[in-house]
Amino acid sequence: MRFTEPAGWVEVTALNDAEALFTSLTGRGAEGVWSSAGRANLIGEHTDYNEGFVLPFAIQHRTYAAAGMHADLAIRVASTFSPDPVEVALAELETLFAGAPGAAVADGTVPEWAAYPLGVAWAALAASGRSAADVPGVDIAIASDVPVGAGLSSSAAIEGAVAAALNDLWQLGLSPLDMAKVGRRAENEAVGAPTGIMDQVSSILGRADAATFLDCRTLETRSVDLGLEREGLILLAIDTKVEHAHASGGYRDRRAACERGAAALGVPSLRDLTEADLDRARDILDDVTFRRVRHIVTENQRVLDTVDALASGGPRAIGDLLVASHASMRDDFEISVPELDTAVDAALAAGAIGARMTGGGFGGSAVALVEADAVDAVADAAARAFAARGYAAPHAFTVVPSEGVRRDA
Ligand code: ADP
Ligand code: MG
Repeated sequence: MRFTEPAGWVEVTALNDAEALFTSLTGRGAEGVWSSAGRANLIGEHTDYNEGFVLPFAIQHRTYAAAGMHADLAIRVASTFSPDPVEVALAELETLFAGAPGAAVADGTVPEWAAYPLGVAWAALAASGRSAADVPGVDIAIASDVPVGAGLSSSAAIEGAVAAALNDLWQLGLSPLDMAKVGRRAENEAVGAPTGIMDQVSSILGRADAATFLDCRTLETRSVDLGLEREGLILLAIDTKVEHAHASGGYRDRRAACERGAAALGVPSLRDLTEADLDRARDILDDVTFRRVRHIVTENQRVLDTVDALASGGPRAIGDLLVASHASMRDDFEISVPELDTAVDAALAAGAIGARMTGGGFGGSAVALVEADAVDAVADAAARAFAARGYAAPHAFTVVPSEGVRRDA
């Protein structure tokens, strides 16, 4: 097949790299290796901060943490990205991270990447009610084949892997959902990135050939069978290579519009509206705010419909929902870009069952649901359509719904 893996992907198992890094740093073998997955979103975009529904899945690319305990009361972390270990006394974790979000990163006390694993250690202790004085020191070596910053959530993968390692070594008794909350807290408070919990839930709770339904209000989760293998279907990601130039401003603006809409309609969040409320919304709201609201309300319904359609009709039954989701993001939420529209249109014209942009928008990737024997045709069609418009070549790669957190060794 001619489609390729994400840029930076190397066919050396990251598991071995993590073990080798651990040994080179400590001179001994790791006590175990734990890993968690990257993720992609099947449907449900910008619904998370509106307390709505999302349907992401863990992918085959993973981050591994090789770990072992030692007698010093310190935690040492290293990554193949940054092999010089960063060491912090266990007793200092609280002082480092309990202040303003991201303060230890902003003032240079902790390198940004190390705030992910160290923040997980801090949040995991807090979540389990244990104190730093109760647990032994630990070394953690990290390696990954999740491309960073490609919209596949390398951050949730490192958080999940480290949370799982510490949960076992420190016997913290955290559930998978607890570990997801720990990851989110590390990212929000230790790193200082104000993100939701979808990434961690999908990274940790994923199952092979399944997606994870998440109700972002109640945090109810449910594994939803996709049936791709049975049906001979593949999910193909098409990375447009467009950088998210307006991503942070656009995100803030869309979030503000959603809050404005909810306030004007007198509900705590847009989650509390259904399609039956849209006529009233149209009367009350200005056109732009109305369309932002309509995206969220219809997208929530599409997530629920996708779950139902998968159960009753299998994966071939969700194509129209994916297409409608893309149209809603393009026309109502206005977060697509011409390259994403081109990728989606080309995929559909080449026979994809469904396709939509995925992620926050303003660039990034589209995802297409295709027959296994049509993967090359769809990837080629996208490449041709990009070339015809003078866009830089897109990068197509399969995303395989895979298991979430696990112990590997
Ligand atoms: P993504 O979309 O990939 O999650 P983020 O900006 O949320 O992008 O997270 C990426 C950051 O997570 C990296 O810049 C780095 O700080 C950290 N990170 C992810 N994977 C690793 C790794 N294997 N080793 C060290 N740091 C990592
Ligand atoms: Mg991330």
